[in-house]
Amino acid sequence: TSHFPPALAERVARRRATFGAASVLFYEQPIEMVRGEGVYLFDAQGNRYLDMYNNVPSVGHCHPSVASAIAAQAARLNVHTRYLNRGVETYAERLLSLFPEPLTNLVMTCTGSESNDLAMRIATTVTGKGGFIVTRAAYHGNTSAVTAISPSSFSAAPVAPHVRLIPAPLAEGDVAGVFATNLRAAIAELEESGIGFAALVVDSIFSSDGIFADPPGFLQAALSAAHEAGGLFIADEVQPGFGRTGGGMWGFARHGIVPDIVTMGKPMGNGFPMGGVVTQPEYLARFCASTGYFNTFGGTPVAAAAGNAVLDVIAEECLIENAALSGDFLKQGLLELQKEFPRIGGVRGAGLFIGLDFNDPESGTPDQPYASYIINAMKRHHILIGAAGLYGHTLKIRPPLCFNIGHGTVFLETLRKVLAGG
Ligand code: PMP
Repeated sequence: TSHFPPALAERVARRRATFGAASVLFYEQPIEMVRGEGVYLFDAQGNRYLDMYNNVPSVGHCHPSVASAIAAQAARLNVHTRYLNRGVETYAERLLSLFPEPLTNLVMTCTGSESNDLAMRIATTVTGKGGFIVTRAAYHGNTSAVTAISPSSFSAAPVAPHVRLIPAPLAEGDVAGVFATNLRAAIAELEESGIGFAALVVDSIFSSDGIFADPPGFLQAALSAAHEAGGLFIADEVQPGFGRTGGGMWGFARHGIVPDIVTMGKPMGNGFPMGGVVTQPEYLARFCASTGYFNTFGGTPVAAAAGNAVLDVIAEECLIENAALSGDFLKQGLLELQKEFPRIGGVRGAGLFIGLDFNDPESGTPDQPYASYIINAMKRHHILIGAAGLYGHTLKIRPPLCFNIGHGTVFLETLRKVLAGG
């Protein structure tokens, strides 16, 4: 912190003194945010930042409809989840109406991690097997069970015996075939080990692996491979869910598949902690027959108020259509920049979720330091953006869904300036 201005050094020191080694802050010089509105965040000095990164406030930072729904319900009734409540029941019906048959039951949780943890427990009960397969840089959460299937959080530690890692989908070529072949090999290993194959768990847009969305449909072969082996397909919709991909509510729907279990989180409450697991009644019944599930805060009246308001805003503001339109504009602009700047490798994505690789222009190898340089340079131009991928060299472009073409123009112009060394 010696290179920080004194006031910032003091704030960061205070943070480290209390939160210790677990304190995670963005940027070489961390920012103190004090307010959010739509696609913007405002810092303590009054600077306005264009947010290209945050997907929790998916319908926009501090959306007034969501904020007032939460406040009104918190002022009227907020109890645990063991009473009848019309708001909660309405929310479950509305959410489930957005899923295909036979996905007609919902369990509400508070986080994506809890959702994936529960999904793993259901899969183990239904299959009687204990093995899980995930992609090499996957992130599925922070409980003990989901940390074991989140290799992006334990890159230095050995993989647990009941987990197999497969490469992320290819960016081009026989995407479906190669992914399914790798999956089959991992399934065979789990079966031979005696642990057996319970489920494939995938983020249906492969966010932390570097964003792999195309071609639509490539997950069909993986789903078939999982089912042929008697295992389940768990779609983690924490990142692509609630309209982000611009093609509908769910990332899995782009692939024309019906997963066995779907997990949700982040955007579900637009910042109010909400998560959920959707599955077929038979699977849930088998799970509940062998073990109960209770979640004190998962699905309180306030959570339902937030969730209902989010669904209203997505529909009223046509945010799925907007994600498709603004996302296409952004992707086209980035493909233009790619022609101009040889450091830009691939540009991939769907709707308002785009990945852009930075490679060394001579060797073509991933260039994480350059991605990091760009992220910090963009921050100096008051644009917030992050990185993803196995090598951390993929710019993760994932703004709130109220992002429009005007915002996109500002972003593209600024990125061009920064790429040109500005
Ligand atoms: N799954 C995915 C794909 C995620 O990106 C995350 C969070 N980054 C989680 C699960 C875990 O969600 P939470 O932090 O709400 O527990």
